[in-house]
Amino acid sequence: MNYRHHYHAGNFADVMKHAALVQLVRGMQRKDKGFLYLDTHAGRGFYDLAASSRGDTLQRKPEHPDGIGRLVAQPVLSGQTTLTPASTARPPSAPPPPLATRPPFASPPLLASPSPFALCLPLASRPPFTTPSPLASRPLLAPPSPLDDYLGIVRAFDRRNGNPASSASALRYYPGSPWLVRALMRSQDRMTLCEKHPGEYLALHGEFLKEPRVSTHELDGYTAIRAMLPPPEKRALILIDPSYEAQDEYEKIAQAIREALRRMPAATIAVWYPLTERARADAFLDRLAMLNPPPTFAAELTIASASSPSAPKMRGCGMAVVNPPWQIDQTLRPLLDTLASRLAQVPGGTATLDWIVRE
Ligand code: SAH
Repeated sequence: MNYRHHYHAGNFADVMKHAALVQLVRGMQRKDKGFLYLDTHAGRGFYDLAASSRGDTLQRKPEHPDGIGRLVAQPVLSGQTTLTPASTARPPSAPPPPLATRPPFASPPLLASPSPFALCLPLASRPPFTTPSPLASRPLLAPPSPLDDYLGIVRAFDRRNGNPASSASALRYYPGSPWLVRALMRSQDRMTLCEKHPGEYLALHGEFLKEPRVSTHELDGYTAIRAMLPPPEKRALILIDPSYEAQDEYEKIAQAIREALRRMPAATIAVWYPLTERARADAFLDRLAMLNPPPTFAAELTIASASSPSAPKMRGCGMAVVNPPWQIDQTLRPLLDTLASRLAQVPGGTATLDWIVRE
């Protein structure tokens, strides 16, 4: 397990996954009854974008400027967007400023040096992080667009973690899927976060130590599906977001979906997948169809066409959703269209949402 998500945090794939995830949570919350959010591959939860260019041995090209960086950047007159590196917010080596208002927060020991996080992560304490529902907070205004909904949470997270420069154009701290969903959780909802990598788990555990209704587990995410379903709430949103290091990852996912549906036929299951090889993604979607699932769609975003010589290795990504909240496709399609136009790196950005089994 060599994968470390912080190199990729805030890239276009994170943006697509997280913006869609926010809408899935909102969709689940159309019903009052609480639900379990199960994140089988949770990562560390908190990412310092200023550390993403620091590899273990070599400098890396940060990916967030072409992802979240494009969305928070202010447009300039030419119609192009300015890509402000996160590191200009504050020197990467500077720790977050002490916030007098933060209550004590006893975080466990963090990764041993030379972790790129060593100087950035040990936050003494943090105020609670919740985002009120858009309707509750602005009763007289229309709810924000799905993109603004997601960006609002990301900006609030950045500010809350002490980025004084958090503005339209300079983001430093980026929430992983656990914090994004935590921001939306109601008192009747619950979260279970699984992470197998010991160092990543330690960081994740420290992030959520004091959070009510959140449990963290140093556990194989696929095992968690057998161990944690069905939950007492009888409603669940499951995010399966692996690092695709295992050769048989797609088969593991298919088996996990089959097991989850056997235990809980109405579970909502979202699977993120990369578009590095079209054929492998198609084989996975065929395999998914063979499970004879309840309503299921695959939403995809590409940021470069396969024929483009300068296309990056991962030229897109997808999210397959089993049992999606009713009519969520109508929210996701325009969101994906916007992302395709804002995030395309060379001509050829596309967005699709195709039903595998119609609702
Ligand atoms: N969901 C996160 C990103 C996760 S990246 C987010 O959106 O912010 C994938 C994570 O899965 C990595 O942290 C990796 O360490 C972890 N991982 C890999 N194999 C795993 C497994 N079998 N079970 C649980 N976690 C695993």
